[in-house]
Amino acid sequence: MQSKIGNGIILVLIVSVLILCILFRIWIGVVIVALALAVHLNLWKKYRYDCPKCSMSFQPSSFIESLTALNFGEHRKMKCPRCGFYGLMKTVKIDENRR
Ligand SMILES: [Zn+2]
Repeated sequence: MQSKIGNGIILVLIVSVLILCILFRIWIGVVIVALALAVHLNLWKKYRYDCPKCSMSFQPSSFIESLTALNFGEHRKMKCPRCGFYGLMKTVKIDENRR
């Protein structure tokens, strides 16, 4: 529940920044926010995460979940959908040739 509230706040913040930038015609701000979202969308689609506890490999169920997960180099802090472990997950790039 707590993480859902946190996600909501971050989403509201991003949207607020976007609206403020549009209102004050700070187009560079709009471009930066749009680029950051595009990069994260790419990240969300191309990476999966390995749970250190149950060794399950998963992708975040929602884009917001991926967007708001803390980044620690090759690891990201998120919750495992199977065992519920909340901690650092190893980031693994999805091999597109194997799909
Ligand atoms: Zn797990």
